[in-house]
Amino acid sequence: MPEMNSAHHAEPDGSASHEPSSQSEMRQQQRAGKEKISPPQQRQPEPGLDQQLQPRADHGERSYKGRDRLAGKRALITGGDSGIGAAVAIAFAREGAKVALAYLPSEQPDADVIAGVLEDAGVQAQLLPGDLRDRGYRDSLIDEAVDALGGLDILVNNAGKQISVQSLQELGDEQIEATFDVNIFAMFALSRAALKVIPVGGSIINTTSIQAFDPSDHLMDYAATKAAISNFTKSLASQAAKRGIRVNAVAPGPIWTPLQPSDGQPIEALPEFGHDTWLGRAGQPVELAPAYVFLASDEASYVVGSTVHVNGGKNQP
Ligand code: NAD
Ligand code: MG
Repeated sequence: MPEMNSAHHAEPDGSASHEPSSQSEMRQQQRAGKEKISPPQQRQPEPGLDQQLQPRADHGERSYKGRDRLAGKRALITGGDSGIGAAVAIAFAREGAKVALAYLPSEQPDADVIAGVLEDAGVQAQLLPGDLRDRGYRDSLIDEAVDALGGLDILVNNAGKQISVQSLQELGDEQIEATFDVNIFAMFALSRAALKVIPVGGSIINTTSIQAFDPSDHLMDYAATKAAISNFTKSLASQAAKRGIRVNAVAPGPIWTPLQPSDGQPIEALPEFGHDTWLGRAGQPVELAPAYVFLASDEASYVVGSTVHVNGGKNQP
């Protein structure tokens, strides 16, 4: 792990940051924009924190402008503390939605920062921390969200676990089970409960991945869960449509989030992360948010069982 020898201070958005000690460190620690980044090699324990990410990710804190496209809607976003989920939370709030965030208790520092950004948009974030592997938490999360938000119109199934392992011989059953539990089994449970409470006109959006269609061999278990999510999205969409609820998916390509340096990629691959896309760079979480906003909004009233690919250009179905 690289030295983290710098002091913390608060950024204008309320987030903690490291005091840069050199020009290049300063550049790395500015929130990344849409330019190409070459992150330094770094490692964090799973699930990783945006506050330790070098450079910090761009969730649209300073750029996303809402147009009331989700006015009055109530949304639960799993993995809403950081990365793609955090960008979706900011966008949804600025589009007029009430938002509840689910995340692991160890991610409270990131969740507090995002809650602060939402507060600036006049939205009180409902914070529902817990481990999706815990059946008690998983089975009560939708009811908790309904209580906190006064109902539920949108479920964003976005929490995910990704641990890179070089060979199948080193990929243990424990990891395979954990990855399937968080990424897809929890999605079945949350969707089952959500379909009972989401009214006509509501929607479910699942985060799948380019890995569903173009798997990397060091992400065997993860990629298999993403293929399952893409498949599940279609059968769920067919069932839910009969009840007037739309189900769709978003398939991100390489996006700079805490998932990557917390064993999501081999450390030595981080500086080149995303450079193999047609745009030649990794995406930022903020670049995903408009796809979720579109799918959640009434503007997508005839979009069902679809996948929006946001990947900087890669071979895709
Ligand atoms: P992230 O680390 O910011 O978000 C993942 C979130 O999943 C975490 O913040 C955490 O709250 C949640 N999570 C993980 N394990 C959990 C558990 N046991 N219980 C409850 N919550 C748990 O990273 P991200 O990249 O924004 O990931 C969001 C989604 O996007 C994931 O489903 C991921 O697979 C998917 N995705 C990411 C990329 C990418 O390149 N970053 C590409 C394709 C798909
Ligand atoms: Mg997180």
